[in-house]
Amino acid sequence: MFVVFEGGEGSGKSTQAVKLAAWLRVRGHEVVLTREPGATDLGNRIRSLVLEPQSGGAPSPRAEALLYAADRAQHVDKVLRPALSRGAVVVSDRYIDSSRAYQGSGRQLPDDEVAWLSNWATDGLKPDLVVLLDIDPVTGLRRATEGGKADRLEQESVEFHEKVRDKFRDIAAADPNRYLVVDASQTPEEISERINAHVGQRLAA
Ligand code: C5P
Repeated sequence: MFVVFEGGEGSGKSTQAVKLAAWLRVRGHEVVLTREPGATDLGNRIRSLVLEPQSGGAPSPRAEALLYAADRAQHVDKVLRPALSRGAVVVSDRYIDSSRAYQGSGRQLPDDEVAWLSNWATDGLKPDLVVLLDIDPVTGLRRATEGGKADRLEQESVEFHEKVRDKFRDIAAADPNRYLVVDASQTPEEISERINAHVGQRLAA
């Protein structure tokens, strides 16, 4: 089973991915907890390229889209497919929808082209379940930057993050069987109970 967490800055994806992985392990599943960008050595280098400030300024939107696609292709080949083929449950912090939301909606690249690029990069590997942690960007950005350090994306405008949020919600609404949308303003415990109950049902089905 392939589970993906998606959501904006400060939505608590990483915390919830760790909690779900722990819950599944207690139930005897082999779990591979992974993330984008940066789950492989190549991916980590790409993560620095896209997120750290550079002398020439931010990458152009198309360059950025290609870098995330390269990270994803490597992730699929080296981590996701091997884990899924030996029967592990894979829990990934971000996947294709992040590209459609950030590079597509946020950077205004055509959605069908961004989706096509991801489909090519992954050779068609789709998640079984996507958990969308939905948060209002003002609250999310406040949470994400509480420690004082903001990456390049966290410094984007609230309007940029509104577009990203709307895109995530639209993607989820178009495919309700594959998506669980959770209000991420709830406590971490409330959120994780909801996710565990849903994943438990899926695994029993
Ligand atoms: O999820 P995490 O905070 O580690 O993501 C790192 C950054 O990469 C975030 O600021 C996110 O907005 C950005 N990102 C992006 N496009 C993607 C995936 C992540 O802009 N396709």
